[in-house]
Amino acid sequence: MEFDYDYIIIGSGFGGSVSALRLSEKGYRVLVIEKGKWFEAKDFPKTNWNLRKWLWMPSLRFFGIMKLSIFRHISVISGTGVGGGSLVYANTLPVPKKAFFTSGSWGQLENWEEELKPFYQTALKMLGAVPNPKLFDGDLALLQLAEDINRADKFERPHVAVYFGKEGETVKDPYFNGKGPDRTGCNFCGGCMTGCRHNAKNTLDKNYLWLAQQHGAEILSEHEVTNVIPEGKEGENGYKVTAKSSTKLFGKKKSFSSKGIIFSGGVLGTVKLLLKLKRSTLPNLSEKLGDDIRTNNETLISVSTADKEKDLSKGVAIGSLLHTDDNSHLEIVRYSKGSGFWKLMHLPFAAGKNPLQRAFSVVSQFFISPLKWLNVYLFNSWSRSTTVLLFMQTVDSTLKLTRNRLGIIATGVSSGKKPTSDIPESRELTKRYSRIINGKATSFALESIAGIPTTAHILGGAVMGKDATAGVINSKNQVFGYEDLYVVDGSMISANPGVNPSLSITAIAERAMSLFPPKVNVAVEIEVPLKNV
Ligand SMILES: Cc1cc2nc3c(=O)[nH]c(=O)nc-3n(C[C@H](O)[C@H](O)[C@H](O)COP(=O)(O)OP(=O)(O)OC[C@H]3O[C@@H](n4cnc5c(N)ncnc54)[C@H](O)[C@@H]3O)c2cc1C
Ligand code: SF4
Repeated sequence: MEFDYDYIIIGSGFGGSVSALRLSEKGYRVLVIEKGKWFEAKDFPKTNWNLRKWLWMPSLRFFGIMKLSIFRHISVISGTGVGGGSLVYANTLPVPKKAFFTSGSWGQLENWEEELKPFYQTALKMLGAVPNPKLFDGDLALLQLAEDINRADKFERPHVAVYFGKEGETVKDPYFNGKGPDRTGCNFCGGCMTGCRHNAKNTLDKNYLWLAQQHGAEILSEHEVTNVIPEGKEGENGYKVTAKSSTKLFGKKKSFSSKGIIFSGGVLGTVKLLLKLKRSTLPNLSEKLGDDIRTNNETLISVSTADKEKDLSKGVAIGSLLHTDDNSHLEIVRYSKGSGFWKLMHLPFAAGKNPLQRAFSVVSQFFISPLKWLNVYLFNSWSRSTTVLLFMQTVDSTLKLTRNRLGIIATGVSSGKKPTSDIPESRELTKRYSRIINGKATSFALESIAGIPTTAHILGGAVMGKDATAGVINSKNQVFGYEDLYVVDGSMISANPGVNPSLSITAIAERAMSLFPPKVNVAVEIEVPLKNV
């Protein structure tokens, strides 16, 4: 049977990029379809006030790298563009603790810790991850906090996917025996989450996708996949894929045929698309689709210092972390100088059981120390004076994503308690950190008033299981009910890693792709039956 491609990969984030390289290396003809744009270093915004280049909001003609989606139980930030979340992420690549490998719907399917060990090593190498070499004011304050709570030995410089050569010096590819692109030494400007304008961040277009293209993989950007139709009941004769322009108002639809499909659109891309297709062209998909959505149970609280001499914007986006107990850790996150947009969406941090209590706390804080708040919002440069405290826990609770007949995606609580922005341990650590830097704590208005937490780490929704009653995919990432259909992205994550997930997504994708055989040479395939005859 003649297909346009052997595999079409929907989305070019961590799962999609690994799939593109490994499949094209094995001789398969690969097309990656990506909703977002291609970005070169010069295309990223100088600060996050340039909303058009920073945010992905096509209805306002903003075609940047970060999307904000607000639901009833959580708000989610995620990445868009060729390279997916790697363009906007904070480069931090920790290995999860033991519990991740044995819990959730995948826990009993394999000895995951052992099975994935070599793939974590490959992932770290491919992404060029090394411990952050330099600490700055925000990190030193975390070290001070670690000493205060007698956990200095639990303070770490995380592995980050950044090239740390000589600051500002461009060299020939240092990673892939000269087959990769030139790289430039990081200058610790803190701008990783608005996109690196200095060619130092190891985004996926500079490793996996770059090499995949050398093996013949094609990348179609600015197109969103809207339909996948199986040929034959279970896709045994391949699939037809339709994509529409995501940046042009009157762009033409494109259609392609493919033997197999890899869904790699990230949780909000993949689960949203699969929920739509379950009602139309892919009805055999498991009833578990949309279940077991997890976050890292995180809180994001900003602390702004009143001390003018401190510069909290210096360093890589996440420069240090502290394991605050066996289940939790805290990371120091920053934006570069001038990137103060978030202050418009922040209110004084408020804890409390109900919205009235929290609203009262917000207003009273303004009245109690108006000058200090004027400093935070008006007089001090927000990013220079602010550290974001990213707190994460392995404690498990799951949400469910559903889609109604109008196509609207909503969240519901699936099991355990719903995620909350009010975590006592995080509150206590924020208080201590604020004291150390003489700072005031703020959080997203939705967290302060409505108690809705924000996550950059949405996971699950198409999890692994022993069969279709327990999951959407098996332990080889194959979708139950269809042939040659795979989910390879954050939606496959089947337990709470409790840490930033991109390294795990990369490692699990590497393992899934290692199970594909090399493509059988077509000429050989034809020859065998002829000989038999
Ligand atoms: C500000 C921020 C900071 C972060 N920092 C870190 C960090 O330091 N460390 C870490 O591990 N993680 C971090 N993350 C999370 C990390 O970015 C994600 O976990 C990771 O990118 C998810 O990878 P993925 O393979 O699931 O897909 P993604 O990387 O989300 O990529 C999916 C891609 O698919 C595209 N797509 C979706 N639907 C379609 C469709 N229908 N058709 C075509 N294309 C489609 C999207 O545009 C996107 O480019 C951060 C996230 C954000 C937003
Ligand atoms: S700190 Fe600046 S130069 Fe270094 S990777 Fe981040 S954005 Fe690039």
